[in-house]
Amino acid sequence: MRYKSIDFSKFSSIKIGPRVDVALIEQGDKFLENHFLIGGANNLLVSPNPPPLMMLGKSYDFLEFDGDDLIVGCATKTGRLLSFAKKHNLANFEFISKLPGTIGGMVAMNAGVKSYEVFNIIKEVEINGKWIKKEDIEYGYRFAKLNGIATKVRFEVKKGYSEELRLELVKLRENQPKEPSAGSFFKNPPGDYAGRLIEAVGLKGKRVGNMAFSSKHANFLINLGGGRYEEAIELSNLAKELVLREFNVLLKEEVKVI
Ligand SMILES: Cc1cc2nc3c(=O)[nH]c(=O)nc-3n(C[C@H](O)[C@H](O)[C@H](O)COP(=O)(O)OP(=O)(O)OC[C@H]3O[C@@H](n4cnc5c(N)ncnc54)[C@H](O)[C@@H]3O)c2cc1C
Repeated sequence: MRYKSIDFSKFSSIKIGPRVDVALIEQGDKFLENHFLIGGANNLLVSPNPPPLMMLGKSYDFLEFDGDDLIVGCATKTGRLLSFAKKHNLANFEFISKLPGTIGGMVAMNAGVKSYEVFNIIKEVEINGKWIKKEDIEYGYRFAKLNGIATKVRFEVKKGYSEELRLELVKLRENQPKEPSAGSFFKNPPGDYAGRLIEAVGLKGKRVGNMAFSSKHANFLINLGGGRYEEAIELSNLAKELVLREFNVLLKEEVKVI
């Protein structure tokens, strides 16, 4: 087994976490028990003592046509898939523009923008080495129950890449802050917005140490430079406590805290 030493204070999008040896899983390797699988760490908050970690290696970073379908390895970065879609004039991948991560992470989070989400265009996912049809996977708003490791995804492809649509969808996300974050921190509760609730309890812009709820978008927990895990957790707990007390709504993390 090969390992890669990863400094999460540099690698993760929120720039928090220790340096750890992460096991690299290549095609043909067995998955490791009791290891947490990471993708690009764009939706993770890594504690000073995370569980043992693994990630998919280079052999899972590929794109290939299979008849009318496109098969993409789960270590492939979203940016690479978008460039491929543009080059080959493929429709329906425009929403992944500037959505950071790997294809595996996207599938596990059913990542997307408004109603454009990755499960809209998926046909099948290879999980623990077996192809599973989309219909047999439970998925919804920002989650998918994969019950294992996604290694490859089969996408339905149609011609017709639209630069206009890409720009329109990127524009929808212009309210996201530029400072390091892990994306939206909490899931939007049914019929409401986590950002609205955090703002309503007075936490928009609230700072603890070097972490803060962004004053641009309250549901983004941002790192102002040298922010720490404990500070992030303090803010998260505070938001949960106040929102529960004032609105009787239990905020649930979208970010995976490990
Ligand atoms: C600035 C910013 C903006 C963002 N905006 C959006 C947005 O608009 N919409 C949106 O949906 N998301 C957004 N995100 C969140 C993030 O881009 C997505 O969740 C992305 O899909 C995470 O991919 P990742 O590879 O980094 O996964 P990671 O963060 O590494 O992992 C996320 C989860 O996926 C699981 N996972 C990873 N790979 C696999 C695999 N191969 N098989 C099974 N499980 C796996 C992990 O175990 C973990 O539970 C944003 C993030 C940032 C930093």
